[in-house]
Amino acid sequence: MNILITGANRGIGAALLTAAQGRGDTAMGTVRGAGHDTLLPLDVRDPQSCAALAGRLSDTPIDLLVCNAGVYLERGMAADALTDPQLWADTFATNVTGVYLTTMAFLPHLRRASAPKLAIISSQMGSNTRAKGQSYIYRASKSAALNLGRNLAVDLRSEGIPVGIYHPGWVRTDMGTSAATIGTDESSTGLLQRFDALSMDTTGCFEMWNGDAMPF
Ligand code: NDP
Repeated sequence: MNILITGANRGIGAALLTAAQGRGDTAMGTVRGAGHDTLLPLDVRDPQSCAALAGRLSDTPIDLLVCNAGVYLERGMAADALTDPQLWADTFATNVTGVYLTTMAFLPHLRRASAPKLAIISSQMGSNTRAKGQSYIYRASKSAALNLGRNLAVDLRSEGIPVGIYHPGWVRTDMGTSAATIGTDESSTGLLQRFDALSMDTTGCFEMWNGDAMPF
């Protein structure tokens, strides 16, 4: 199975890449910037970067596209101090626009696969049901990523491309911090099982890494 994972140079993306390669998949990971030995260059905010990698992959079918790259730029900032519009723009450029640009760039490659799937890494912080206050920008961006995934699921249904949206757990990464409850191995192993289970029967799902349903 050919898998493309964005933001695979560290954190959950790197663990997903290792786990997928370890079980025999042909997994490709991306990194911001050029010149990496094993990872492919991709800045998900940049349409030209997306187009360049899509062109480089040419007619390679992609069975599973994992939109994992994300940022949490307001860490440590008070909720009433998020007044810099650039902070909102930069967060949405990666967490929302980046998902859209990535999906559109590699949709032709998904269409070449016999049983293609699209996975979007959102967060429980994108759940409206579980709104807990604070981190307004990140929460809004992950909610938008969830909404984007739900609408892509509708529009890609006729092509037989299921779309799953996922919460990876609170994971010990640079973003999740060392205080998080699970490691990258547990998260990535669980997520791969969720991707395997994704089908047209479950398209549009919002699930945790362990298979529990996330409330929208
Ligand atoms: P990290 O901060 O550890 O890693 C983020 C990855 O995304 C890095 O590889 C980073 O690359 C990449 N990235 C950021 N911006 C871009 C961009 N513009 N183009 C390409 N790649 C980019 O985060 P995690 O591994 O913890 O998170 C992965 C995903 O899981 C994110 O979407 C996050 O929101 C989500 N998530 C994480 C949780 C957690 O507890 N860790 C909880 C819920 C959701 P670079 O090194 O260049 O910055």
